[in-house]
Order: sequence, then C-alpha cells, then structure tokens
Amino acid sequence: MTTKFETHEHDVLIIGAGGAGLRAAIEALGQGASVGVVCKSLLGKAHTVMAEGGIAAAMANVDRADDWRTHFRDTMRGGKLLNHWRMAQLHAQEAPDRIRELEQWGALFDRTADGQILQRAFGGHT
Ligand SMILES: Cc1cc2nc3c(=O)[nH]c(=O)nc-3n(C[C@H](O)[C@H](O)[C@H](O)COP(=O)(O)OP(=O)(O)OC[C@H]3O[C@@H](n4cnc5c(N)ncnc54)[C@H](O)[C@@H]3O)c2cc1C
Repeated sequence: MTTKFETHEHDVLIIGAGGAGLRAAIEALGQGASVGVVCKSLLGKAHTVMAEGGIAAAMANVDRADDWRTHFRDTMRGGKLLNHWRMAQLHAQEAPDRIRELEQWGALFDRTADGQILQRAFGGHT
C-alpha cells in the first residue's frame, strides 16, 4: 500500500458529483467558498447523466391548473407522507426556477408548439 498522499484544503467539501453535488458546488462557489468535489467514479459518470425521461416541476406550460401545490401534494402522497414536508415544499416551489436555470446553462428540453418547455405527467403525478 502506498504511503504517498496529497492534502487539499477547502471551505466546502462535497461528496458526490451528480446533479445534487455539482449544483451544491456551483452555489457554494457563488457564495465565495473554495470548493472540493469528491466522487468514487469518473467525473460525470453519475446517475444524473443517465436521466433523460424528464424532470418534475410544475411549470403550467401544458396544464394551466398545474402549480407547486399539486406537485407538493403528489410528492407527499408518493412518499406515503414519510417525506420531510418542508423539503418537499421547497422542492415543489423552487423546481420551475431550477429548470429555467438549467436551460440558461445550456440544457435542452423538448418544446410545446408555442415554444415553451414541453410537459407530460410522470408516474405518480396528477
Ligand atoms: C437510467 C436512469 C434513468 C433515470 N431517469 C430519470 C428521469 O428521467 N427523471 C428523473 O427525475 N430521474 C431519473 N433517474 C433518477 C435520477 O438520475 C437520480 O435520482 C438523480 O440523478 C440523483 O442525483 P444525485 O446527484 O443525488 O446522485 P447521482 O447522479 O447518482 O450522483 C451520485 C454521486 O455520488 C458519487 N458517490 C457515490 N458514492 C460515493 C462514495 N462512497 N464516495 C464518493 N462519491 C460517491 C458518485 O460517484 C456520483 O458522482 C434516472 C436514473 C437512472 C439510473
């Protein structure tokens, strides 16, 4: 076993380089922290890059009745009310902004006929 190692110092150390970890890294960096990201595999080889079916967010682009409360209710119901309700609420409320952010950063989404981000119901979604 080698005894050689390097030491890196950071304000924030993030374990995991999928979507959650990298979004956290962007946020921490934006707050002026020096950030280290650790992952157990190749950078970019995470479940996040395999997801292509869709992202849950109540954007009301297809169904005008769609809003964060519906998403919140679906999430709590899907979690058999075991979810941390406040996290589920924040998730439902902030998801549309996060989608718009991803789009600004270059993510490509299918479009509706009038050019908005396309939506369809996923399993468990109203
Ligand atoms: C094929 C597939 C299709 C999917 N499709 C969809 C979809 O259409 N819509 C949807 O909403 N969700 C989908 N999902 C689920 C979605 O991809 C995940 O819920 C989401 O990407 C999780 O993000 P994450 O950042 O938490 O984890 P991940 O993207 O899995 O990242 C985890 C990171 O942690 C690192 N890591 C793990 N263990 C350690 C350790 N011990 N030490 C250091 N690093 C570690 C990994 O290397 C990786 O970098 C899909 C998943 C798969 C596999």
